Amino acid sequence: MNILVLNCGSSSLKYQLINSDTEAVLAKGLCERIGIDGKLKHEPAGGEKYVSDAPLADHTAAVQAVIDALLDKDHGVIESVDEIHAVGHRVVHGGEKFASSVLITDEVKQALEDCTELAPLHNPANLIGIAACEKLMPGVPQVGVFDTAFHQTMPEKAYLYAIPYKYYEKYKIRKYGFHGTSHKFVSKECAAMMGKAPEDLRIVTCHLGNGGSLCAVKNGVSVDTSMGFTPLDGIAMGTRSGSIDPAAVLFLMRKENLSIDEMDKVLNKESGVLGVSGVSSDFRDIEEAAAQGNERAALALDTFAYRVAKTIGEYTAAMNGVDAIVFTAGLGENSGSMRAKICEYLGYLGIELDEEKNSKRGEAMQISKEGSKVKVFVIPTNEELMIARDTKEIVENLKK
Ligand code: AMP
Repeated sequence: MNILVLNCGSSSLKYQLINSDTEAVLAKGLCERIGIDGKLKHEPAGGEKYVSDAPLADHTAAVQAVIDALLDKDHGVIESVDEIHAVGHRVVHGGEKFASSVLITDEVKQALEDCTELAPLHNPANLIGIAACEKLMPGVPQVGVFDTAFHQTMPEKAYLYAIPYKYYEKYKIRKYGFHGTSHKFVSKECAAMMGKAPEDLRIVTCHLGNGGSLCAVKNGVSVDTSMGFTPLDGIAMGTRSGSIDPAAVLFLMRKENLSIDEMDKVLNKESGVLGVSGVSSDFRDIEEAAAQGNERAALALDTFAYRVAKTIGEYTAAMNGVDAIVFTAGLGENSGSMRAKICEYLGYLGIELDEEKNSKRGEAMQISKEGSKVKVFVIPTNEELMIARDTKEIVENLKK
């Protein structure tokens, strides 16, 4: 079965066409500047990259451009649109309604509309992408895979904030958590690499990219995670503050006479390792500056590693122990020095890193020594493959 995996943003659309039987990526690409002018970058497996500047007026035009690229006689990989058997959409917010991936129906679309207030930038783009596929590929089943779904197993004590309960009842203010597809994928892979059933393991997964979150995965399900009501909570990130005393926010707004939108920008766009270092939001730039003696860059890296290590400690307590720690995403997969910095705090868990393995890149592997009490892994995340797997399962069940 060929599955088109789509990740629609407000002005962008990432895609992969995956053969879900072999799990091979047939082609992948990205549409950018949708509604502005338009750019499509398309990469067929084993073939030459193709770039087009043809205008992309809206998401329907972008989905059409993707279909055209997939069918093109030079850089295409299929001969007819009928060879797209299903579409899997990455959807950011499923609220409390969705604890797993679902076939998209009118009811699901309505539920997504209802969650729009919770993800004002993302859910509308997902809905537009779904409508575009309905128009251009009528009858092809579409599946929604939610970033929040994996975390719906968190117990009340983990997801409730200690504010008046009426605000949970009225506005559903609670912890939702994000990056669920990634946490689910790497925790499953970790169990497979350990030769154990997920049900027998306590794993802390660390998704460390430009955005970052940790997840406590106990017996195969999420019991806690560091992002909250929004992706702003938890560890420090590229430009996001992560957790901060809410009173500091109120103080700043009063002192600097900041509007809600201005404060929002400070916390989401100007904080995190960018804010502390003053150098960049990109960890590569910060590591380079720190190596050249920039003290604030070094401080930003220390602050980051300390918070991640503390969160691992929290989750070890939440699960009454930990069997494995997994690093994934841009920074987690590529920065041996950051992994080592974090693991320096974890000697109390009996963790011993294998320095040589920790210096390697690009493949899934155990980076702790054989005798390490808690195993440490690097596992490249693959959210698209997880979306394709969920989509396949749901579509195959339809036929039964
Ligand atoms: P992601 O959001 O998963 O794409 O991750 C992006 C982040 O990963 C950026 O902050 C990058 O600086 C970081 N990153 C990617 N490659 C490396 C690397 N080789 N060393 C350090 N950080 C990296």
